Amino acid sequence: MLHPQRLTLFAKEHTDTLAAISCGILLFVGWFALHLGFLGWGLLLLPAAYVLGGYESAREGLTTLFKEKELDVDLLMIVAALGAAGLGLWRREYHLIVDGGILILIFAISGVLEGYAMERTEQSIRSIMSLTQDTARVMRGEGEEIVPISQLKVGDEIIVKPGELIPTDGIIVSGYSTLNQAAITGESIPVEKTVGEEVFAGTLNGYGALQLKVHQPPESSLIQRVIRLVEQAQNSAPPSQQFIEQFERKYALFVVVGGLLLAVLPPFIWGWNWETTIYRALTFLVVASPCALMASIMPTLLSGIANGARQGILFKNSAQLEIMGKVRAIAFDKTGTITTGQVQVCQVIPYNGYSEADVLKLAVAVESRSEHPIGYAIVRAAKDIDWVKAMEVQAVPGCGVLGIIQTPTLISSASVEKSTKQQVIIGHAAFIQQYVIIPVELKDSARSLEEEGKTVVWVAQTLDTDTNLLCVSSKVVGLIALADMVRGEAADAIARLRKLGVEQIVMLTGDNERTARYVAQALGVDRVYAELLPEGKLDVIRCLQQEYQTVAMVGDGINDAPALAQASVGIAMGKAGSDVALETADIVLMSDRLEKIAVAMRLGKRAQKVVKQNIAFALSFIILLLLSNFLGSINLPIGVIGHEGSTVLVILSGLRLLKK
Ligand code: ADP
Ligand code: MG
Repeated sequence: MLHPQRLTLFAKEHTDTLAAISCGILLFVGWFALHLGFLGWGLLLLPAAYVLGGYESAREGLTTLFKEKELDVDLLMIVAALGAAGLGLWRREYHLIVDGGILILIFAISGVLEGYAMERTEQSIRSIMSLTQDTARVMRGEGEEIVPISQLKVGDEIIVKPGELIPTDGIIVSGYSTLNQAAITGESIPVEKTVGEEVFAGTLNGYGALQLKVHQPPESSLIQRVIRLVEQAQNSAPPSQQFIEQFERKYALFVVVGGLLLAVLPPFIWGWNWETTIYRALTFLVVASPCALMASIMPTLLSGIANGARQGILFKNSAQLEIMGKVRAIAFDKTGTITTGQVQVCQVIPYNGYSEADVLKLAVAVESRSEHPIGYAIVRAAKDIDWVKAMEVQAVPGCGVLGIIQTPTLISSASVEKSTKQQVIIGHAAFIQQYVIIPVELKDSARSLEEEGKTVVWVAQTLDTDTNLLCVSSKVVGLIALADMVRGEAADAIARLRKLGVEQIVMLTGDNERTARYVAQALGVDRVYAELLPEGKLDVIRCLQQEYQTVAMVGDGINDAPALAQASVGIAMGKAGSDVALETADIVLMSDRLEKIAVAMRLGKRAQKVVKQNIAFALSFIILLLLSNFLGSINLPIGVIGHEGSTVLVILSGLRLLKK
C-alpha cells in the first residue's frame, strides 16, 4: 500500500525525476495538440512543460548569475530554449516551440542521469559509514546491558554474538571466530581471530561468540578515523574540479559572445536571412556548451575513488587518483612500512655495572609514553618488571625520546647520589652522543648486531638535570637490540610497481645504514637512504621530485609526516599509521598491504586513460556539432540530442571505473 507520507517523501527525493517526467508528458501532449490543430491547447501546455522542466535549471542559473556574477551552462540552455520559442511565436512556426521544449526536456533528463551516476559513486563511499553500530552489549557483573557506544569506557567488556557487527575496536578476551573485515581492509577473505587479538569496529563477526575488552575510546576506533577522512574528502573541492569550474565560466562567456556574434554578423558577411541566422545562433548556444567536457573528469574520478574504497584504498580527494597514475618514483619508509613495525626486543646489553633489568626499567619509563614501534616493543619486553612512568617525556622524531624520572631508588645496582631527578635518554647513536660518550667496546657489539639487521637503541642517563646535561655523571647504561620483520608481500609489491613503470624505488629510514642495507637487500630497491631525520626524508623527496617530477611517499610515522606532505602523493599505512601520518597523507591503505599501492596506481592509470578518452570524445563531438550547425545540416533537436547524448555517454564511460 502506498502511504501518503511515504509518497511525499518519495516526491521530495525525486523532484528532479518527477519534473522531467511531467515535462515530457506535457511536451508530448502539447505537440500532439499542435499537430491536430488545437493551437490554444498547444500554446498552453508547451509553456507549462518549459516551466516544469526548466524551473530548477533557471533558478540555479539565475542564482549563479546574480550571486556570483557568473554565467553557467544551465542559463545558456534556458536562453536557447526561450529563444527558440520566441522565434517560433514570431514566425508562427510553432514546431520551434516544441524544439525548445525538447531541449529543456533532454537537459532535465540528463540532469537526472548525472545525479544518478554521481549518487552511485557517492553511495559506494558512504556505505562505509553505515557500518557503525549505535549500541553495544556490555557485561555488568553477572548480567549484560545494552548501552550506547558513546558511553563505553576503556576497560569495559562487551559481548558480540555470531553474525553481528563489531561495535567498537577491542581485544578478544574469550572466544574464537572468523571475521569479515572487507569493509575496512577490502580483503574479502575472512580472517581468523582468537584471544589476545584485536578486532575492528565495522567488521562482521562470523560464527563464534566473542567477548571483547574495549582498549581505546570508541571515537578513536579505526572506522571512526576512516569516516572523518571521508567527510574531509567530500568537503574539500579537489583542484581539478575547481579548475574545471573556472574553465566552465570562461567558456560560457565565450559561448555567449560567440552566439551573439553569430546572431548578428552572418547576414552581412554571408548573406544569410535573419531567421536562419538566429536559429543557428541558438543551436550554437546549445552544441557549444561544455557539458560533455565538464562531465569528462569528475564522474570518472569519483567512480575510481569508490572503487578504491571498496578495496581498502582511501583517496582523500579525487585529484590524487590522477596523480597516482603519473608516479615515476616511490619512496618507502622502513620501520612500520616495509617492515611490520611489530618490533621485538631481542637483546639487552647492560654497561657500567647496571643489570639488564635496570636498562629496561629506565628505558620503559620513557618509552611507555612513546607512539613509536620501538616504544611498544620495549613496553612489552618490560612487562614483568616494576617500573615508574617518567615525566616531561619528549619525543624527538627520527632520533629517540627523553624524559625525567623522580625516584632515585629506582636503580638498584648503581649508587645514586644526592640528586632526586634523573634524565633518561634513548635513541640512536648520533642522538645519544649529544649527551654522552659511547664506549668503544659497546660500539663493536652494536655494529655486529646491526649487520644482522637489528636496530640498536642506546639508553643513557644524566644524574643532574638542573645544571649541565653533559656533566660527568652522564653515562651510557646499555643498549637494546630490536628485530623487526620485513612484510611478506614487500618484495612482490615492489616488483609490481616496477612492472607498472615506476623508474626509481628508494627506501628511507632514520635507522642506521647497516640495518637498512640488511633489510633492503632482498627487496630490489634502487637506493637506500639511512640515518635520516624527518627533514632529511623531506629533502630526499624534494631531490626525487626534481628528477622524476611525480613522486609518491609511503610511510607510517610522525617522522614521515613532512615527507608525506611534500610528496606529490603521500600514502599512509592505515592500521599501523600514526594519526599525524593519516592526516597528512593523501591516500590511506586500510589493510596496510603494500601491494595495494600497485592497485591504486593501476586505478590511477585507468582513470587517466578514461579522462583522456572522454575529453577527446567530448571535444571532437562539440567540434563536429559546431561544424554541422554552421553548415546547416542539423536542426535544434538533433543538436540537443547530440549534445546531451554525448554528455551522458561520457558519464557512463566514467562509470566504467566502478568495475574492479
Ligand atoms: P624509520 O624511518 O625507519 O621509520 P624512525 O625515523 O622512526 O625510523 O626512527 C629512526 C631511529 O631513531 C630508530 O631506528 C631509533 O634508533 C631512533 N628512535 C626513534 N624513535 C625512538 C624511540 N621511541 N625510542 C628509541 N629510539 C628511537
Ligand atoms: Mg616508520
